[in-house]
Amino acid sequence: MANPFNLPMVGRSLRNLVSRPATRRYPSETRPHFAGTRGTIEFDLDTCVFCGLCVRRCPTLALTCSREDRFFAIEQLRCIACGVCVDACNKDSLHMSVDAPRVHLHTGAAPGAPRPGHQEWHQQQPAGSPPGPGDAAGGPAVAAI
Ligand code: SF4
Ligand code: SF4
Repeated sequence: MANPFNLPMVGRSLRNLVSRPATRRYPSETRPHFAGTRGTIEFDLDTCVFCGLCVRRCPTLALTCSREDRFFAIEQLRCIACGVCVDACNKDSLHMSVDAPRVHLHTGAAPGAPRPGHQEWHQQQPAGSPPGPGDAAGGPAVAAI
């Protein structure tokens, strides 16, 4: 019978028992940005007027906003950090920052108030507006504000 301590996985298992974990305790511990990267979108709720310009310019439909609800959301997994929204905003409410946390939702609405989900919000476009990239005809989506 083979000696189980000669199996290659035994050494690895014993090393894993005494070594530090290979993963981080996200979100309490986040990975620093690599040098030269643009960072993450930083949003200022106080200066934003919810005009929707950044939403219309975003090439990946990562942004959602609603003037009535004072609601602004960034889908961080869609954002490609291109900076187009930063250039589009004339209120200086958006910046790229390597220190900004990856916050998804910003809102001035009362706690518990209903908020439009991203997909639902993009479906609230007025009739006759250009189709979005996910639609059959392609093209940019237009914000319904
Ligand atoms: S363009 Fe600027 S002011 Fe307008 S919705 Fe976007 S962040 Fe707010
Ligand atoms: S950085 Fe680019 S992809 Fe990200 S939210 Fe702004 S416009 Fe959209």
